[in-house]
Amino acid sequence: MSEAKRYPAPKMVDRTCKRCKKPFQARAADVKRGWGLFCSKSCKAIKQEARTGQYAAFIERGQNSSEDREASYDAAYDEITGGWDEGGWRDDDSGVTTVRGAA
Ligand SMILES: [Zn+2]
Repeated sequence: MSEAKRYPAPKMVDRTCKRCKKPFQARAADVKRGWGLFCSKSCKAIKQEARTGQYAAFIERGQNSSEDREASYDAAYDEITGGWDEGGWRDDDSGVTTVRGAA
């Protein structure tokens, strides 16, 4: 009765990282959406880069100015991961991991 509108503890499920094969836990809701495939955003970015090559493109572009390299590296990272945080999976992950069904 006195239950306030608190966040219900998200249901977590055991997953194995698609990249490094490390076991980790992801939110069941995210897994349902086709997310929760990677244990960390590093794994996610690297795996996505392998698929799309956009990460490498970002890095390459940043190589003209070595001073900005770190900054653009981070920017590229955020762009690709959709600002995905270590702390949690954002709900507005805006299609970073787009799952396309059969057209
Ligand atoms: Zn991993």
